[in-house]
Amino acid sequence: MSRKQLIAGNWKLQNSLEASVALAKAVADGSKGAKADVVVAPVFTALASVAAALKGTHVAVSAQDVYWQDKGAFTGEVSAPLLKDAGVTYGIVGHSERRQFFGETDETVRKKTAALYAAGLTPIVCVGESLEQREQGATVGVSVGQTAAALAGLDDAKLSSVVIAYEPVWAIGTGKTATPADAQAVHAAIRAYLTHAYGDALAQKVRILYGGSMKADNAKELLGQPDIDGGLVGGASLVAEQFVAIVAAAR
Ligand code: PEP
Repeated sequence: MSRKQLIAGNWKLQNSLEASVALAKAVADGSKGAKADVVVAPVFTALASVAAALKGTHVAVSAQDVYWQDKGAFTGEVSAPLLKDAGVTYGIVGHSERRQFFGETDETVRKKTAALYAAGLTPIVCVGESLEQREQGATVGVSVGQTAAALAGLDDAKLSSVVIAYEPVWAIGTGKTATPADAQAVHAAIRAYLTHAYGDALAQKVRILYGGSMKADNAKELLGQPDIDGGLVGGASLVAEQFVAIVAAAR
């Protein structure tokens, strides 16, 4: 089964409106003819402008988070229908920075994943172990457990489009990457879980991205692994040439 790879740039809390639009345009220009799907995730305030700037290009827009209620008295939150209204087609949920700093739990990740699906957006669900968990030998248990929790109760028919991003927490923004073999082993374990839970046909369709200090110089080897279906890129996505070089490394 050949899955089309997906390279997503998570810009985090970076870039003004003007800088976001300029970076988005540079990514679109630099990655024309890409073999992979390309996605950028700006800050909330830049989503609509970036989506407008990318209209008609091959680059899609993702939010970095979402709230699970559609509307109501939830000061400060943004819902999936409003993201869709802004031209967004993907939503990142469960990023480790949200789990670590903003009280994100498996249950809120599950609700957010369901809300994205309900609005017709594609969830990018982040999972992955901390250094302490890795040292305790809990890498696969944590990553598979978070995957299972995020997808629990969702309509199977929709699940083949879900994107899982395996992001070992100790590799995010640290310059340390999992070795391609280590990452492949975790990706294979996540896919084995999907096969067990939903059957082989569905599991073979789900894209599992690697995230954690992916750069132009390590992307090719990581993206060459059979179960690594793309990358979720933080730091290196903020410089168009670096991000475009990663897109070019997709198979
Ligand atoms: C991320 O934040 O999702 C990420 C992978 O960051 P970095 O590439 O900087 O490690």
